[in-house]
Amino acid sequence: MSSEIRLTGGAIVMQDAARRVIERGEVAFDPATGRITYAGEVRGDGDAAGSGRLGAATDVTGCVVMPGLVNAHTHSGMTPLRGYAEDMNLQDWLAKVRAFEVRLGAEDLRAGLELALIEMLKTGTTTFADMFLWDRRMLESVVTSGMRVLAAPAVFGYDAVGYPAASPSDGRAVLDLTERLAAEFAGDGQIRLAFGPHAPYTCTPEMLADVAARAGRLGLPIQIHLSESAPEVDSCLRDYGRTPVAHAAACGIFDHPVLVAHCTHPTDAEIELLAGADAAVAHNPVSNLKLGAGIAPVRRFLDAGVRLGLGTDSVASNNNLDLFEEIKTGILMQRGVHRSPDIVRSGDFLDMATCGGAAAVRFPEVGVLEAGRPADIVILDATGTRATPLYDAASYLAFAASGSADVRDVYVAGRHVVAGGRVTSLDEAAVRERVAHTAARVRRELAAPAT
Ligand SMILES: [Zn+2]
Repeated sequence: MSSEIRLTGGAIVMQDAARRVIERGEVAFDPATGRITYAGEVRGDGDAAGSGRLGAATDVTGCVVMPGLVNAHTHSGMTPLRGYAEDMNLQDWLAKVRAFEVRLGAEDLRAGLELALIEMLKTGTTTFADMFLWDRRMLESVVTSGMRVLAAPAVFGYDAVGYPAASPSDGRAVLDLTERLAAEFAGDGQIRLAFGPHAPYTCTPEMLADVAARAGRLGLPIQIHLSESAPEVDSCLRDYGRTPVAHAAACGIFDHPVLVAHCTHPTDAEIELLAGADAAVAHNPVSNLKLGAGIAPVRRFLDAGVRLGLGTDSVASNNNLDLFEEIKTGILMQRGVHRSPDIVRSGDFLDMATCGGAAAVRFPEVGVLEAGRPADIVILDATGTRATPLYDAASYLAFAASGSADVRDVYVAGRHVVAGGRVTSLDEAAVRERVAHTAARVRRELAAPAT
């Protein structure tokens, strides 16, 4: 008897090269290797001999089966700040968030991260790229959760300490830590490291050049925020005589693999630069809209061949990690701004959330349901009102699906990390209590009169 686990009868959104959607299909995987062994039409029908060689099937009729989603940009440990700084522009928002962040200790950050891991898994995300105060223990939380991460320990300048209560490390120490963690996790299927220079307005040109040199030496990618808002572009022009992407390129950043967050205000020359480099843009429609930061030129990116992923950014500017909301909002935002229903296709955004995002965050092996790929699989319950009738599973995913209501089961590398809507790898009730405790404590501290 085969040890394969077979999921049969659901609508399969494969995200393979032909973008096949199979109305009644099968995805099978080997839990021992964590790899998909088959994806396509249901096997064995009317063929008793063939059927007998196959393992027992789990019937997922009424479900939509898709690859695990890829969140291409977030700051997962910031969940204690959900809903804390509202109705503000980016500059005021950064200041208010900063006053909260400096009071967070290492355990507060880890609880915040674990809450984010639970939230992402429950809404169908299995891989994410993240810039935050990563350390070994936080990476271990990701290992425990079962997720995959491209983790970029954030640096805000040589002398700046990111989260003084959590860690006394300055920028140089964080860059050194990034190198050590990258060596420790080299070749790992779950944990990959990137350098995380926050932005040109926090990191000097000397530091960006240092990061570029380190990335070249170690063969590591870089995550950086560029061109998030018009004031940022203006200040970069004022300080350096160049727009942010061009400035980062002049510092050598684009000589290496780069994941750029936002990029809502690129020039034509910068779009060409992004298309010609080993670069990807993480588009964050909800965060950009919420902060009024700008509208990324998605059509121009697509036409130029810029690699694109889709991100939530942190919950402090979102306020959740449900990537299905980004897919829908991103499509509607482009169509509304351009007053055109075909300026972008829903498939463009499904790609950004799966196979395209996987390439963007340097996990090119995930994001597709195909034999030989890692078994990162999401099963959505499509029996509810939202999915009735179901003419087209891909359009349901783009416009009607709710991550929090519809995601039923999630596998990462064949491990059953969400079963019947419940996360199996972390204790949700305990994590929620830890984060609530952190939020209450910091609020008390901020309300206390200065002494
Ligand atoms: Zn960000």
